[in-house]
Amino acid sequence: MHLIDVGTGLSVLVQGHDWNLLYDAGSADDKSGNQSSGRSKSRVIAYLYAALGPSGAKKCVPDSDPWPVANLPERRIDHMVLSHPHDDHGSLMDDVFDCYAVANMWDSGAINDTVFYDRIIERVAAEQGLAYNTAVAPPQPPQIKVRKNHDLSGHTWRQFAEGDVIKLDDTASFTILHANGHAGGDFNENSIVIRMDLGSKSLLLVGDAESGPRELPSAALGDVEKHLVEHYPALIDTDILQVGHHGSKTSSRAEFVRHVSPEIALISGGPKKYQTVTLPDAEIVSFLEGEGIRVLRTDASDAAGCAVADRFGRDEDRPGGCDNYLLEW
Ligand SMILES: [Zn+2]
Repeated sequence: MHLIDVGTGLSVLVQGHDWNLLYDAGSADDKSGNQSSGRSKSRVIAYLYAALGPSGAKKCVPDSDPWPVANLPERRIDHMVLSHPHDDHGSLMDDVFDCYAVANMWDSGAINDTVFYDRIIERVAAEQGLAYNTAVAPPQPPQIKVRKNHDLSGHTWRQFAEGDVIKLDDTASFTILHANGHAGGDFNENSIVIRMDLGSKSLLLVGDAESGPRELPSAALGDVEKHLVEHYPALIDTDILQVGHHGSKTSSRAEFVRHVSPEIALISGGPKKYQTVTLPDAEIVSFLEGEGIRVLRTDASDAAGCAVADRFGRDEDRPGGCDNYLLEW
C-alpha cells in the first residue's frame, strides 16, 4: 500500500496481485490546473503513472517525464473510493477518470454542490462499464443534479450498506464499516470507512471521520468514531490506521485509537490551512506516539521545504513528493 504525498489532502493506493484500489485522490494545494505543456501536473497522476505504469492520453503523462509515452490503452483501476465530497479528497479524481478505466466507483452519495464534485459525477456518467456504488438508494430516473444534471441510466448503480464485504482475491477483501449518504451536517460525517483485510495485515481507512469538536484525545467519543466503537469494536482492530481528518483534534479520541490499536498510523497533512490550523495537530501526533504507535507523516519534510518541486516527479528512485510511504508485505 502507498500513502501518497499529495500535500494538503489524501490519497492511498492499495495493490494486490491482480487488483488495485484508490482511496481518495485530492489535494487543496496541487498545481495541476497550471498545464502549459499539455501534460499532467497532477500529483496523483504522476504517482499512478510510476506505480501502475503509463496509461492513456498525452495529458496523463507527468510533466516531469523526459521520455513521454502517450496514447496508450487505459490501465484499470478496480475500485476508486471518494471518502466524502470535499475537494482535498476528490479534486484530482477527474484526471484519474480521464487516464484510467475505473471499474467501480464508491461514493457516499451525499451531493456537494461544487465544481469539483460536478466534474466527478460528469466523469462517472461518461465512464464506460463503470459500476457506481452509493450509500443512498439509486433515484428513479437514475440522475444526479450537481451543477448540471447527469444521467446515469446506462450504468449499473448499486446501494451499499455497512457490513458489506467485497472480495478482491483469495486473501484480500474490504468491509464497509460506515455508510451515510445523507447530506445535512458536515460532509466529514459522510466519510466511507472501510476495513481492508490484506493477507496477514489489516488496514482501516476512515477519511475525515470525526468524534466532534477540536479537543484532546481524552475527550468523549462522538459522531462516526463513536458509531464505529459501538457497532464494530472487533472490526476496527487493525494493524494500520489512516488517521482521521489529517490528524486533527476533531478525531483520534483515545477510546477509538485504543480499540484500533494499530502498529502504524498514517497521517496525510500539508501546508495549507484548514480555517486557522495546519494539520496534523501536535497533540494528536504526540498522543499516537505515546501509545507506542509508529507515525508516518506526509508532511515530514514540509518545514524544511520539500525539495521535489510541486510534489510530483521522482523522489530519488521513487515517484511522488518528499514523503511517500510504500508498505509491502
Ligand atoms: Zn480532508
